Amino acid sequence: MRIFLNAKLVPPHRAVLSVYDHGFLYGDGIYETFRSYGGVIFRLDQHLSRLQHSARLIHLKLPYGLAKLRTSLYQTLAANRLSNATLRMTISRGVGELGLDPDLCARPTIVITARVFNGYPKALYNRGVAATVVSIRRLGSDTLDPRIKSTNFLNNILAKIEAKRAGADEGLMLNREGYLTEGTISNLFLVKKSRLYTPSPQVGLLEGITRQVVLELAGTMGIPTEEGFLTPKDLLRADECFLTNTSMEIMPVRKIGKVPIGHGKPGPITLELRKAFRGLVRQECRT
Ligand code: PMP
Repeated sequence: MRIFLNAKLVPPHRAVLSVYDHGFLYGDGIYETFRSYGGVIFRLDQHLSRLQHSARLIHLKLPYGLAKLRTSLYQTLAANRLSNATLRMTISRGVGELGLDPDLCARPTIVITARVFNGYPKALYNRGVAATVVSIRRLGSDTLDPRIKSTNFLNNILAKIEAKRAGADEGLMLNREGYLTEGTISNLFLVKKSRLYTPSPQVGLLEGITRQVVLELAGTMGIPTEEGFLTPKDLLRADECFLTNTSMEIMPVRKIGKVPIGHGKPGPITLELRKAFRGLVRQECRT
């Protein structure tokens, strides 16, 4: 296995970081997760523009331009002879003396890891996962803006711990006003009376690349869609529910807490969207 570390492809035992890296000390950094299908990274441009956006929001100057970011990802895939993979690019503020001031760090640290990935088990898609609404709230846009895909994940980690303790696979977080935002690593969708609903970015969430793809697909498939202010009540009354992210794509939810969603199994619109998503991947990545 080869890991991309500051422009060098090194074996894992040489992929080591300083204990003074501000990513480690303060969670001062950003990242992106990508997925490649048949050697092609899906929606690469969108992921890289989100990375640039995250960098801007934390006042970090990216160490590379777009072209070099792109080739670094493909170099990492090639060095590991990977075709179907997940990749993670992490960019931290870099190494510096103790202290919060970013000027203490001369240059950002950039790491890319990749591993083979052929999707989650089929059984999960057939059955759907369990989700629960957790008590910990999503940080508001006026705190650590959820649009930043930052390496500072404690808000979501606390939510994950709570969800896991409740026996759920994913925890759904409300904002301060009590509106549904997103899962700890996923965006949320509901279907009610053949209409598709997803929390509006105005509630404070990470605008997932997969979320955007689903909105596009729903548009072309003629499924009426609304980005809005959804409550846990809306969720419990939904006919269907699913989660989206880069690695799981479209994952059906079978229950929220103890309450089954719809018939307690993946619904028809979820399945249709999933099929369309797979078709789009085949088309864009020519797999
Ligand atoms: N919300 C959060 C908090 C996430 O961590 C992720 C995973 N990146 C998502 C949503 C989904 O985003 P994407 O579809 O771009 O993977």
